[in-house]
Amino acid sequence: MLELLRKIVQEVSTAPDVDAVLGLIVRRIQRGMKTEVCSVFLLDAPSQRFVLRASQGLNRKAVGRVSLSSSEGIVGMVAKRAEPINLEDAETHPAFYLLKDTGEERFHAFLGVPIIHQKQVLGVLVVQQQNCRRYDEAEEAFLVTISAQLAGVIAHAQVTGAISKIAWKHQKSIDHRFEGIPGAPGVAIGRVVVVAPLADIDAVPEKATDDIAQEIARFETALERVRADIRKVSARLAKRLRHDEQALFEVYLRMLDDNALAGEVVAQIKQGNWAQGALSAVITSNARQFARMDDPYLRERATDVRDLGRRVLAYLQEESGSKRIELPENGILVADELSPAVLGEVSAEKLAGLVSVLGSGNSHAAILARSMGIPTVMGMVDLPYRQLDGREVILDGYSGRLYVDPSEELIQAYREVLREQEEVAAELATLNDLPAKTIDGSRMPLWVNTGLIADVSRSLERGAEGIGLYRTEIPFMVRDFFPSEYEQMQIYRRQLEAFAPLPVTMRTLDIGGDKALPYFPIKEENPFLGWRGIRVTLDHPEIFLVQIRAMLRANEGLGNLRIMLPMITSVNEVDEANNLLDRALIELQEEGYVVARPSVGVMIEVPAAVYQLRRFAKRVDFISVGSNDLTQYLLAVDRNNPRVAGLYVPYHPAVLKVLEDIAREARKDKLQVSICGEMAADPGGALLLMAMGYDALSMNATNLPRVKSTIRSVSMVQAKVLLDKVMRMDDADKIQALMTETMKSLGLSQLSSPVLPE
Ligand code: PEP
Ligand code: MG
Repeated sequence: MLELLRKIVQEVSTAPDVDAVLGLIVRRIQRGMKTEVCSVFLLDAPSQRFVLRASQGLNRKAVGRVSLSSSEGIVGMVAKRAEPINLEDAETHPAFYLLKDTGEERFHAFLGVPIIHQKQVLGVLVVQQQNCRRYDEAEEAFLVTISAQLAGVIAHAQVTGAISKIAWKHQKSIDHRFEGIPGAPGVAIGRVVVVAPLADIDAVPEKATDDIAQEIARFETALERVRADIRKVSARLAKRLRHDEQALFEVYLRMLDDNALAGEVVAQIKQGNWAQGALSAVITSNARQFARMDDPYLRERATDVRDLGRRVLAYLQEESGSKRIELPENGILVADELSPAVLGEVSAEKLAGLVSVLGSGNSHAAILARSMGIPTVMGMVDLPYRQLDGREVILDGYSGRLYVDPSEELIQAYREVLREQEEVAAELATLNDLPAKTIDGSRMPLWVNTGLIADVSRSLERGAEGIGLYRTEIPFMVRDFFPSEYEQMQIYRRQLEAFAPLPVTMRTLDIGGDKALPYFPIKEENPFLGWRGIRVTLDHPEIFLVQIRAMLRANEGLGNLRIMLPMITSVNEVDEANNLLDRALIELQEEGYVVARPSVGVMIEVPAAVYQLRRFAKRVDFISVGSNDLTQYLLAVDRNNPRVAGLYVPYHPAVLKVLEDIAREARKDKLQVSICGEMAADPGGALLLMAMGYDALSMNATNLPRVKSTIRSVSMVQAKVLLDKVMRMDDADKIQALMTETMKSLGLSQLSSPVLPE
């Protein structure tokens, strides 16, 4: 059974469209379970009826024609109850409802299981048999298992199916809407550029070509280069391999022959597909055919076909220079996995919006997008992004939606939102030189989080009073190797000089998790619980020392540097870091530099750190709460995983409690406490943190004016009353609702999200 399950899931996940998916499912299950009928009913959203979408065993003509509501028949009952129903003789059941023209009157035994994806019943999977018998427990368990596994594939095929029916020649049509997770607020209207990962056959964007001859020539050149590579390897190994092993190279060369794969690719190009797309289609379909074969030797050939495809693709991509990302005006960049490094490669002037299939609202790519002020949607797991290159879209970063080929009416409605956005921004700009002060006179220093070069000027323009977090890993990411001490010193000096005498908090290298350096790969099963932040740098004192030395040298003659340590879990990590800092100081002084010991602080982002504040107080000068990580570790929710994005809630009572406790404990030791997680950038969150007693809030420059405007609209007394109310509530959704209501009553709701078109 397990083998059958594996095979079905594998085949189904590579089927080209939803009908093929359903057809495969019913055929394989009917045969695998040795039953007479297998059918799938899927919910048709507009009519709210379960339509027979595929069947093996029932009358084919009934497919697509017969349907049931959720109050009709046993199928309706399975859907309504969202649990399996197993009957020896369905006809005798009170809910039985004969579906005319299907021929089902001949079948008595019935087993139906719901197909559920993300709590929604998508449909019902049914098996039937003529003789009266109850399907046994193992059969029921098998059907439940397969249904659970296929639900995601069916949901994906349904969503992507709608769009693939539109031809390449992009006709205007209804607004195809895709849902994701809000990454950075704002709206963008523009054209898509897909950034495909290199040499990935499954991620090639679909494009038409007008220059068939050139595409064929490109393909032939790439092919010739792969043939030459194979011949070279074959010649090099000639003496070491047996004759039959050597023959394998001949097989590869034959596979690339004009009569084989190459011929198929050229035929596809002639039909108007570009070379990379034609190659991807031919390789995928051939590999799929091999993978289906029963003979293990032939099945293995699927791997060879894909490997050859990857090699040809790599040369094709190299030739078209796809490492450079070229954007049109108002370009909307769509990537399988948006990384901070990709953001460093694009020109920000033309970039209007960003979409990532993977990742979530607190992934570092989203954090950087917010800081750049680029509307972004993350976690669009059902987006058929390969088909979107060149298409017109509306990106709504407030609701996390993307509309493909939008109608003129929708474009106009969103243009109106864009206009309102501009008005709000212009109004906020008038606050740039004013302090963040409540109406009863409490001052709240607003700092910024930086990392990108553009952050500094934007922050100063908006009246930032210091840098609460400089993410030093960002400049490390856009390089090919570790920057030297001198290079680092220059980069850090720019930040310190721009803000002097205001404080600049530099965090030591915080790599790992979702922040990878291309030249220092860390491969782990569980990266957020792995080798991250201070754990990496203490294991590599040579990297740590160079960085500290660069920071200290950059601070010469300025004196506004503060050093902050990320991912601290235990006091010994602080002691070790302090020792290395002292060593760097002595060495530099011996070398003649005039360097002084800066303030040192730790980030409170691991729950264990919360319970050691008094011990840290003896060792450092300040603490800063990293609420992004603290939330993920406290709630056990991966900040990068879109599947659990709904569980990542900053207004969770436990998160609020911990934040309040930290502020109170820090006060006891007169330890300065700030916060640099994204919660400080949320106008409502900022009010609560101010009332808790945080000494400074650090956020992205984009949101700083919004937070300032919010603080200037309330009194500290009001903020404390609100906090008191919130702390007595026990449900995150209710807290969120109260915060939304409060912002509305303060006349500030447009700061969070404008009214959006439906
Ligand atoms: C945090 O964890 O809250 C934080 C500020 O650091 P980062 O988002 O870079 O992990
Ligand atoms: Mg962190």
